[in-house]
Amino acid sequence: MLNPICTEPNLYRACSRIYSLCIPHMQPVHVSRAFNAECADRGANRIGACCAVTTPYTGTMTTYPEPTLIFENPELTVRAFSVSEMDNSVYLITMRATGEQVLIDPADDAEELYAFTLDALLKDCPQLELADGEERRVRVMEKEEDFNSIRPRAIGLTGILVTHGHWDHIRAIKELDHLTGAVTSAGAADAAAIKEQEDYTVEEELTGGESFDFYLSDTVIRALHVPGHTPGSIVYTLKTTWEDGTPATLLFTGDTLFPGGVGKTDSPQQFGELFSNVLEKLFGGFEDDAIVLPGHGRSTTLGDERPHLEDWGTRGW
Ligand SMILES: [Zn+2]
Ligand SMILES: [Zn+2]
Repeated sequence: MLNPICTEPNLYRACSRIYSLCIPHMQPVHVSRAFNAECADRGANRIGACCAVTTPYTGTMTTYPEPTLIFENPELTVRAFSVSEMDNSVYLITMRATGEQVLIDPADDAEELYAFTLDALLKDCPQLELADGEERRVRVMEKEEDFNSIRPRAIGLTGILVTHGHWDHIRAIKELDHLTGAVTSAGAADAAAIKEQEDYTVEEELTGGESFDFYLSDTVIRALHVPGHTPGSIVYTLKTTWEDGTPATLLFTGDTLFPGGVGKTDSPQQFGELFSNVLEKLFGGFEDDAIVLPGHGRSTTLGDERPHLEDWGTRGW
């Protein structure tokens, strides 16, 4: 079944053109309990506030036209911002205590993404001051005393994590690295594609199993290699808590998994590889309440998608 918006011919062409690199077809009408633009319209300001809302998937092209707070707890916030005509969702994790930040997918417009990080610091870390210029490059403190000596300065962006090497997800990588000095990481098997497209060498090549920690915190982001959409596709996983302290899992899936299906593949073999990896590593590795935050469009949960897995396998996309 086509998305209703796509039954109008011009819109369907637009949808399939814009998403053709990333999403195989416009996805079927989809009901999600997770956060999306309608939730924001209803005044909910984060995922947890929105769980009772069911919304048909309408193919909205700009998911987060403004930087949007989608998740928060006493330790951290997650904000999302859609950039460019490809509606790439860029996610930003900000630690409240230190102002340390990690950005997922430097998709486009480095200046705007840099402003996005500073705005989050102002909102989420009001006790900290922003350092200017080169001082913002402060990112690795060997000892706690070193951090204390720079208090009350926010640390700022320390990590730029790339989900995969498709051009729409990496257009700002070089300039955002230059602006912030953050360490860039991407799947090893996509590093050559990034070099070729952006003339940029990724600093850390990932093969899965790596973890990224935060200064003065036990929270970690883990890299999971889930190849299929591209050879080096990485899903970044963040285990944290809801505001009341119960466990929460966020999966930053890039173009590996969307509401309604897996990402685009170019052959039945490639689909088979992606689908089996998604089954094993995502649906087999996480509980139904894990939140899926894709590289385009709306969020979902594994539990919302799990009943449809057999259909996906049968249809082959
Ligand atoms: Zn994409
Ligand atoms: Zn892609």
